[in-house]
Amino acid sequence: MSARRERPTPERRCPTCQTLVQRFWNFCSSCGRALEWRDTALETGAECHYCRWMVSDRFSFCPWCGRQIRDAASSPTPLKAPKGFRFERRCRAGCGGGVMYPMRYCPWCGRTQRWPDLGFENVCPHCNRGVDDWMDVCPWCGEDATGQDLVPRALRRVRRLLAVSRLRRWDYRVLLRPGVSGVTPRAPKLIEIDRRYVRGKRATDISWNLLTGLLLHELGHSFLFHHWAWTRTGRFRRAFGEVRQAYRVADSKWVDFERRGVTTTLPDYVTAYAATHPQEDFAETFRLYVARRGRLRELFAEFGRKRKGVPVFEKFLVLNDYVRELRGWR
Ligand SMILES: [Zn+2]
Ligand SMILES: [Zn+2]
Ligand SMILES: [Zn+2]
Ligand SMILES: [Zn+2]
Ligand SMILES: [Zn+2]
Repeated sequence: MSARRERPTPERRCPTCQTLVQRFWNFCSSCGRALEWRDTALETGAECHYCRWMVSDRFSFCPWCGRQIRDAASSPTPLKAPKGFRFERRCRAGCGGGVMYPMRYCPWCGRTQRWPDLGFENVCPHCNRGVDDWMDVCPWCGEDATGQDLVPRALRRVRRLLAVSRLRRWDYRVLLRPGVSGVTPRAPKLIEIDRRYVRGKRATDISWNLLTGLLLHELGHSFLFHHWAWTRTGRFRRAFGEVRQAYRVADSKWVDFERRGVTTTLPDYVTAYAATHPQEDFAETFRLYVARRGRLRELFAEFGRKRKGVPVFEKFLVLNDYVRELRGWR
């Protein structure tokens, strides 16, 4: 027996859905339940009267809800780290006291603290704090961590178009993130959409056609990565060429994706952007195919009017046959 009595470490799981959570997160990243970090292991013997989270009786302010909790036990001067808390740095406001990640307020002077969230894959489109790609809810602000809630109309339209084009849903995941739009072969199901386009604008200002086109184009990349073995077939390679050339999909010139029409230049490509790389060629073919609901007759009539060459017809036939084949398998 050890001299110190063993206390069970409280398991850091959401009480509602059992997802693992990090200590002092505000919300469960799966179900969005508000979390409460009480002093269940009796580390400090004190909880805030207001928010019930663990505090030290030496504190003057609750570092979680920011309210004043000063009483006779409070330290008259800022301390570095009272029992139960680690010293990670000094208070940003300069009171001299120590603070620990992820305290929102200094427990000594009550001023707001900001922290870089290290070790996260990305940032929340609502509060800019760290989130991981698999999170549904931001653990900091409790909003949709993917940002899908910012583009509901475009997502609805995309889902409807995929359904009428007879494309089965694969487990793609749309994420609004800073930077460029694209899909990487490392994470073929993650479709990153440049959030600059949506942020700071009212929903009414967003061009839903453009967002829908952008989403369809990126879904084309994801679809291709998802069915990568297909790119080895002779028919695919004759139509689209060698898609395996090293290439990081980063679509920065997506203004063109708003157009649902076929461009008249470049007879062997459906749009000018399609000519930039075989993977873009496929993504543009996919976008047009789905945007036009898989109606080849209508598309082919337009190709005829715009003097497209045989290769463009063949690209759409290759895709159409493959979509039909996928349907037949199940
Ligand atoms: Zn949960
Ligand atoms: Zn509190
Ligand atoms: Zn302070
Ligand atoms: Zn957030
Ligand atoms: Zn692309």
